[in-house]
Amino acid sequence: SGFCQSNSTFYSKRKPFSLPPNQALDVTTFISSHRHRHQNNGVAFIDASTGRRLSFTQVWNAVESVATCLSMDMGIRKGHVVLILSPNSIFFPVVCLSVMSLGAVITTANPLNTAGELARQITDSETALIFTIPELLHKLPAQHVDRGNIPIVLMQNTDIAHGDAPRILMRHVHANTLEEMMKMEQRHVRVKERVMQDDPAALLYSSGTTGVSKGVVSSHRNLLALIGNVEGRVRMEEENQIYMATIPMFHTFGFTKYVLMLLANGFTAVVLSRYGMDEVLSAVEKFNITYLPLVPPILVDMVNGSDLIKKKYDLKSLRYVLSGGAPLSKEVMRAFRDKYPQVNVLVGYALTESNGAGASTDSLEECRRFGSVGMLTPNTEAKIVDTQTGEGLPVNWPGELWLRGPSIMQGYYKKKEATESTLTSDGWLKTGDLCYIDDDGFLFIVDRLKELIKYKGFQVAPAELEALLTTIPGITEAAVIPVPDDKVGQYPMAFIVRKSGSSVTETQVMDFVAKQVAPYKKIRRVAFVASVPKTPSGKILRRELIKLASSNL
Ligand code: AMP
Repeated sequence: SGFCQSNSTFYSKRKPFSLPPNQALDVTTFISSHRHRHQNNGVAFIDASTGRRLSFTQVWNAVESVATCLSMDMGIRKGHVVLILSPNSIFFPVVCLSVMSLGAVITTANPLNTAGELARQITDSETALIFTIPELLHKLPAQHVDRGNIPIVLMQNTDIAHGDAPRILMRHVHANTLEEMMKMEQRHVRVKERVMQDDPAALLYSSGTTGVSKGVVSSHRNLLALIGNVEGRVRMEEENQIYMATIPMFHTFGFTKYVLMLLANGFTAVVLSRYGMDEVLSAVEKFNITYLPLVPPILVDMVNGSDLIKKKYDLKSLRYVLSGGAPLSKEVMRAFRDKYPQVNVLVGYALTESNGAGASTDSLEECRRFGSVGMLTPNTEAKIVDTQTGEGLPVNWPGELWLRGPSIMQGYYKKKEATESTLTSDGWLKTGDLCYIDDDGFLFIVDRLKELIKYKGFQVAPAELEALLTTIPGITEAAVIPVPDDKVGQYPMAFIVRKSGSSVTETQVMDFVAKQVAPYKKIRRVAFVASVPKTPSGKILRRELIKLASSNL
């Protein structure tokens, strides 16, 4: 059987690994200690649009040079938070690894975010330095950056004029770009601060089970543990895999995969800065991609467009598609197998809060278990908990999944209450996902208990939209729920209580929100109601609203 169970705890049956015993160790040093492990002639990253390559040697030299510049020229110290606002790029991992090597903390943001959303993150994380690309400069909250006197480093050398960017921002742009820093002579005079496994390394943002977006504090150990985990796994896979970096590196799925794991295992990643079906598929053909991580809506597109796709592209190199970040239905999985019989669909389940730990299908055998997200990752324990009684449940019983192990976050940044309601005192992470584990140890996700909405795999926090909606004059109350959708997974819908006499319309509501949030967070359906159903303690009864929405009102 695929697990052992005692005291209602399920243990991973995958081969455990031991963490490095040296407590004074940062994740960058740990990954670079694997640098002998090259494949594909030592090519680490290829930019799909320009063809530009970075070898493993170039990556590690660049990391050293940039870290030196950050510490000697820019005053970055242990504990400082550095924001990267960039689409996928071959330079993205270089920035993250340099920052983490100093004991400084990397925080990431979606380039689709608005200036207001970025301002909130910059304040919350106490960002000390920003890396971005020239095209995104105008997105930064100018007043904010100026008030905090936050230096900005542009990632590429560029000829384009920064016409769009306010003058006030230009004052903070550092004289050297990242590309220039990468080429600087190495100066071996840097004072290296002692970085411990327990020190924070990354601060990715997630709304978790409830409320608005929060900084997830991940330690060096949390990230090391992930790499140890993958080491064992990769041995089972074939050599010379070529990965496609389509999943955004700012999200935990892409961050763990492209910034950390591939480099540690010596695999090549072909990097696409923009997702588009044509770009992805022509790159698969051109670079002989073997392994393609995707979010479920893209698998759906590939199923629906299969006839045309197979006519237009030669996908014979493709052996694996890895789906993660949101649920993939059994039907889509089957349909994909029918349309692309030579491609194996692997599945991964994890959360920002678990840094890649969760479950996955690792072998061809396992990925035939349609509908399951696979078996627990190594060194991971699970419990299935009855949400009413708090009791641990046996196999085949659905309940809330709790996870424990070395990759589980330390907590939410400066949010004690949210941390305490998500992590138990003995280290369990409450995932907010309704799951069961079958007799063979396969994990199945039945439903999402938490508020979180996932639009094409991106997080949308209802609490954030509700707060925004109630700032509209004429609205007294608002509740936001997910509506299931074949194409995008889920989209947000708002239930609204109008003030008496107010005639605020659906269009006005949608436009108001659309102006202030990233496009994937837009409200796409509105219903006006007399009241929002709540528990006696004032919590919105979202289940009732979801029922109401599905019965078409
Ligand atoms: P994030 O922190 O953005 O990765 O979101 C984590 C949440 O996404 C999980 O708690 C699940 O609700 C959902 N999720 C991630 N991967 C999967 C998957 N393979 N199947 C179903 N839901 C998933």
